[in-house]
Amino acid sequence: MTDDPLPQTIIHNYIHGQHVPPTTKQYLPVLNPTTSTPLATVPLSTSTDVTTAIHAAHAAFPAWSGRTVKSRAGILHRFHALLRQHAHEFAECIVRENGKNITEALADVAKGNETVEYACSLPQLMQGKIDRVSGEVSCRDRRDALGVVVSVVPFNFPLMVPLWTLPIAVVTGNTVRGWIGSSDFYPNAIVQNPTRVVQQCLTVWLSKIVLKPSEKVPMTMNKLTTLFEQAGFPPGVINLVHGTSEAVEALIDHPLVQAVTFVGSSPIARLVSERCHALHKRCIALGGAKNHLVALPDCHVESAAADIVVSYAGCAGQRCMAASVLLVVGGKESSEALVRAVVEKASRIEPGTEPGKMGAVIDGASHAKILGYIEQSERDGAEILLDGRSWIEKMAGRGGNWIGPTIIRHRNKMDRAMREEIFGPVLSVYHVDTWQEAIEIENSNPFGNAAAIYTTNGGSAEWFCSRFRAAMLGVNIGIPVPREPFSFGGLYGTKSKYGDMDITGDGAIEFFTNRIKITTKWPAPSAPEYTVGVDQEQ
Ligand code: NAD
Repeated sequence: MTDDPLPQTIIHNYIHGQHVPPTTKQYLPVLNPTTSTPLATVPLSTSTDVTTAIHAAHAAFPAWSGRTVKSRAGILHRFHALLRQHAHEFAECIVRENGKNITEALADVAKGNETVEYACSLPQLMQGKIDRVSGEVSCRDRRDALGVVVSVVPFNFPLMVPLWTLPIAVVTGNTVRGWIGSSDFYPNAIVQNPTRVVQQCLTVWLSKIVLKPSEKVPMTMNKLTTLFEQAGFPPGVINLVHGTSEAVEALIDHPLVQAVTFVGSSPIARLVSERCHALHKRCIALGGAKNHLVALPDCHVESAAADIVVSYAGCAGQRCMAASVLLVVGGKESSEALVRAVVEKASRIEPGTEPGKMGAVIDGASHAKILGYIEQSERDGAEILLDGRSWIEKMAGRGGNWIGPTIIRHRNKMDRAMREEIFGPVLSVYHVDTWQEAIEIENSNPFGNAAAIYTTNGGSAEWFCSRFRAAMLGVNIGIPVPREPFSFGGLYGTKSKYGDMDITGDGAIEFFTNRIKITTKWPAPSAPEYTVGVDQEQ
């Protein structure tokens, strides 16, 4: 762990392919979470800066739409290859500004690039369908992109979360296709001989994106602009505006913006969703989480313990999919082996950003919040089985926001640490006598991102998977992230998701497009030369 070698950078917005100084005079420092070294300053962009970015995006339409589908897909393929080639540089930048370890940072890049890879297939995945619905009437549909869309992202995955939306948003516009003719080019042949239809590309309307990175980690996305250019994205298709609430509100309110994706904490997710819906704009707003793991007495102790530690302490617990409550089913005696194994494995983790170590949490405010939950738990009468506060002394004098893996055994399920999102390396353990009690506790929490069951019995696993109140479920997997083509997103109606659809996979295709349905009726041709399948010489 060394101090950051980079000179301090002033970050600008990225608009129409240029790094543009914003009109604001207000900047925030970006600090290395592991050393507290200043890395950069980030502007708090104003509504004027936002308007400039949105107009640039809007104006990009001719350049983007003038390209063939093949050339647009080619840009994304090049971007994918470039990101792979430069993965280490980006991972190092993530370590510097986010504080996670290098293995986790490389995974941040690789997982982001998986969505890029998925988006490369969108020309195939987005094809419309056609059916003869009655007599000479047929229906077909196609997907039109939305126009200017906005993405607002959090600090915890500086590259992966922006890449959840960015590639899908810009490429969904590439493949606005309709099945518009047959190989004979007779309209009614679509109905009469569907196997012979040919696909034609109808370029209708293409998406462009304005992305607002987290002000806590603006450097990674800023660096990614070099790859946008090398890959060949035309200016204005992808734009970055830095800032916080003022920029986000102006982005939502701008009349040219059609849809907004948001990922962050629940209170802000709710605000963003309500603001969008009041303006009749499409919005998906993913919020926070409180993910429950249930361990049954028949679980495989060693592998469950290893997985639980990765789930709650990986990325210093700063993952919306991280475990935060472990419900151990069965008498305390029978379940003690699992709890002991979890504590033992977690206690071996060392501070640092090298592989296998655990990095620092993002900032002083987050550090203070985590400490507050540990202290409150002590006041609530909970037992601290592993105390991460020991790292404060261990790392004293080095700067940074260090807090080690912490495990708290609660006596009362109503303790605040059992119910609220902490977003740090803290696991709450609670013993229950029955499966039903475990489900009751999980179901009554107000979040609905993820839940997982540890068992060696398939029937028990199914029982829990059909009763958990969360959208992403795991069996013997504590971080059950669904990869493409499956969609990522929490349960609607909980604090984990406000708004519409999902943010990746099929859900994102649906989110970033309008489905246009076309119903046609063509009278059967009367002239013999127009009758499909009739030999002209007869
Ligand atoms: P945050 O809510 O503080 O910030 C998220 C984004 O919102 C940032 O870009 C920020 O600038 C912006 N923002 C902040 N205040 C705003 C306001 N008043 N109005 C409009 N925009 C505002 O979240 P964070 O601390 O960056 O990230 C951590 C949170 O994100 C955790 O709660 C975590 O669970 C959640 N998260 C959820 C998911 C998911 O998929 N559900 C994924 C990653 C992170």
